[in-house]
Amino acid sequence: MPAPRFPIAHPFDDDKLREECGIFGVIGVQDAASFVALGLHALQHRGQEAGGIVTHDPEQGFNSARRFGYVRDNFTSQSVMETLPGPLGIGHVRYSTAGSKGQTQIRDVQPFFGEFAMGGAAIAHNGNITNANALRRELIERGSIFQSSSDSECIIHLMARSLQRTIPERMEDALRRVEGAFSVVAMTRTKLIGVRDPLGVRPLVLGKIGDGWCLSSETCALDIIGAEFIREIEPGEMVVINDGGVESHFPFRSQPSKFCIFEHVYFSRPDSILGGRSVYETREAIGRELAKESPVEADLVCPVPDSGTPAAIGFSLESGIPYAMGIIRNQYMGRTFIEPTEQIRNMGVRLKLNVNRALIRGKRVILVDDSVVRGTTSRKIKDMILDAGAKEVHFRIASPPTAWPCFYGVDTPEREKLLAATMTEDEMRTHLGVDSLKFISLNGLYRAVGETNGRDSACPQYCDACFSGEYPVRPSDMIEKGFSLKAAE
Ligand code: SF4
Repeated sequence: MPAPRFPIAHPFDDDKLREECGIFGVIGVQDAASFVALGLHALQHRGQEAGGIVTHDPEQGFNSARRFGYVRDNFTSQSVMETLPGPLGIGHVRYSTAGSKGQTQIRDVQPFFGEFAMGGAAIAHNGNITNANALRRELIERGSIFQSSSDSECIIHLMARSLQRTIPERMEDALRRVEGAFSVVAMTRTKLIGVRDPLGVRPLVLGKIGDGWCLSSETCALDIIGAEFIREIEPGEMVVINDGGVESHFPFRSQPSKFCIFEHVYFSRPDSILGGRSVYETREAIGRELAKESPVEADLVCPVPDSGTPAAIGFSLESGIPYAMGIIRNQYMGRTFIEPTEQIRNMGVRLKLNVNRALIRGKRVILVDDSVVRGTTSRKIKDMILDAGAKEVHFRIASPPTAWPCFYGVDTPEREKLLAATMTEDEMRTHLGVDSLKFISLNGLYRAVGETNGRDSACPQYCDACFSGEYPVRPSDMIEKGFSLKAAE
C-alpha cells in the first residue's frame, strides 16, 4: 500500500533539526478529548505528521482516533470528537521518529494501546529508545507480535511480560529495561501516569485544571486550556494521578540530569517555561552572549524568522545595533504546496521567506539564526540578502556547530550531511559565502541558560551531544549499525 499523503513539515523546512513528538494527558475534567485536542494543537510545533487521542469513559470504555495531518484539521469535527467520550484522555503528535521515517503508516501513530489481565492501558512516548532493536529482537524471539515499526511499542510488550500486579508497576518494570530518552504519558481506566527517564532528556510538566490534572510536554499547552503550571516532572520520576491526587515515585537509579539543551535554543515554544525560565528570555540571553563573544560592525541586526527572533533582539540590545525585520515570513506556506512541483520546489526558500528590500539595500546586515544543519537554507538566505543590495552579510548562530546526530528523539541527518561535521568554521564561512560566520560557544550557551560558570566538562549539566559528540546514553542500536562514537581525547 503506498504511503499516505499528509502535510509533513514543509519541504523547504528540511534544513532544521526536528523535534519528533509532543504528548499531553488530562484527568478529572468533563470531555477530556477536547482538552487533549487543544493541548496537542499548542504542541503542534513538536510534530506535524500525525496525531492521536485515546480516552476512557466508565460506560463506553476505551476509545481512540488516529489521523495524519494537523490537529486542527482532524480533532475539531463533532463527528470525531463525539467518538472520544470520558473524563480521562491522552494524546500524541508526531513527526516521524524511530520506525517508518517518512513512510508512516497509521499503525505507527500513537498512543499505543495494550489489553492486560488487570485492564487496558494506553501510552504516548516522546523521545527515542536507544536499545529498541535489541529489545525488539528479544521480545519477538519470546513470542511478542509487534503491530508497528515504532520503538515505543517495546514498552507495551515489556509491560505485557512483566509479572507485576498493577499497570503502574508493570510500566516501571518495562521502563527499567529501556535505555535512551523517554517522557511518557499513559492512562489506565482510572489513572493518568507520567514518567521521565532518569536523565530527564525530554521535558514533561504537571498542571492543574479545576479539580483535574494534566501532563504536557510544554507549559504553552497548559496556557491554552487555562491550566495552572504546577511543576516539572523530575528526571527519573513517575507520577500516578487519580481521584485521590498525585502520587510520586522514583523507580530508577538516580543520575545527574541531562536535559536537552537544544530545547532552550529551538524546539520549545518561546512562550513555554523550562527549568524555571522563560524560553524567550533564554533565547534573548543567547543573543546577548553571542554579541559579547562575536561582535561585528554593522548597520542592522535581522532575525531569520521565526526562531532566530528572540536571539536577534538580544544581539541588538547588547550591541546597540538597530533590530529590523529584514526578512518577512509568509505565515501561510505550510498548507499551500503539499506536493510541490519541481518548478515550485526550485523557487525554494523564496516561497517562504522574502527580503524587505527597502530596508536592506546598501546595509551591512547581521543575520541571526538558531542553527546551521546542512547549510542549504543559509546559503539561499544569504543570496536573497545580497540580491536585495546588502553591502555585507554576517551570520551569527544561536547554537554551537551541530556536528553530531541526535539519537534521543530529534530528527537529524546522518553525520556526513551535517555541515559542521566535515568543515571548520572558516570553511563553513567560505562555503556559505558570507563576510563572517560565528557560532555561540558551548560555554556561552551554558551561561545563557543560567549556568553562570559555563559548562562543567567533567559532568556536563545538560545533554549537548549534537554539539560535543559526548552522548550521555550510549546509542547502542546505532553503534550496532556502524555509527562511530567520538574518539576519547
Ligand atoms: S543530542 Fe542535541 S538535540 Fe539531541 S537531546 Fe542532546 S542536545 Fe538535544
